Amino acid sequence: MMPQSSLTCCPFVMFIVFVLLLISAAGFPVSDEAYPSSAFEHWIYGKSNLKGTSWNKWYANSGAWANLTGSSCGGKQQSPININPRSSVRKTFPKFRFHNYGNIDRMILMNNGHTAMYSLQRKFPKGRIPYITGGGLNGTYEFAQFHLHWGNDSTRGSEHIIASKSYPGELHLVHFNTKYGSFADATAHSDGLAVLGIFLKIGPGENPYFRPVVDQLGDVLQNHDETILTNLVSFKDLLPKQTTSFYRYSGSLTTPFCQQIVIWTVFDTPVEVSEKQMNKFRKLENLEGEHLVNNFRPSQKMHDRTVF
Ligand SMILES: [Zn+2]
Repeated sequence: MMPQSSLTCCPFVMFIVFVLLLISAAGFPVSDEAYPSSAFEHWIYGKSNLKGTSWNKWYANSGAWANLTGSSCGGKQQSPININPRSSVRKTFPKFRFHNYGNIDRMILMNNGHTAMYSLQRKFPKGRIPYITGGGLNGTYEFAQFHLHWGNDSTRGSEHIIASKSYPGELHLVHFNTKYGSFADATAHSDGLAVLGIFLKIGPGENPYFRPVVDQLGDVLQNHDETILTNLVSFKDLLPKQTTSFYRYSGSLTTPFCQQIVIWTVFDTPVEVSEKQMNKFRKLENLEGEHLVNNFRPSQKMHDRTVF
């Protein structure tokens, strides 16, 4: 009986596996044009075990992230932190060098239910991909994506806080260390990612350089909505005027599984945007159709780390 039943069952099992593969491929939420969602900070949000969670409640309950299986969220090098300028150590770093940080065309904007994420098209010419060197980073870090964190109003929103002061928003430019070959491979190393954190504060007028970033947010109001930006985004114009003064420390992703793989650079000079521009982010919706706001993790313990 055994040989016969295994002979008839094998093609059937293979067929089932094939069908399951087809279903999972069709259900993958990112289009061909974009990098796979696994290639990004916040990638875990696409995983089924966390689907169905309200992101507002999720962030309110972020203390429980440490209990997730395989999570580093309870580790000793977690981000974000409350940066105390008085206890940070003064250090001179080489200047940052920003390469290909000019006009980027046809960026992909996606509402992934927890943030607005901007990435390059898959067919983006290799030689024109933005990357950074210098700034005390050991090697070359290639751009992967940027995204933002914001509050329900301008009294809060940033992930990092300076001397207990929040900003209305924080922009994260995520890069991976090219010596590891790919974003996915870089995530296994403590110097795998370099994230540039830029505070957003409310200024009197619109920031023209943020127009391409905010103008099409209305196209991606719902979770998984995606669009291609019609205007060029100039990365160098999203940076603060002053990039020589910044905080540097070793930390983590700020979403599960909070891997401790990030060399953080938090510029202390904020960038101004208008309240109207900030409000466009607050109109986005999360998975459950609620307003996607307060998508920031609270400050984590310093333990025995130094901020430079
Ligand atoms: Zn972030």
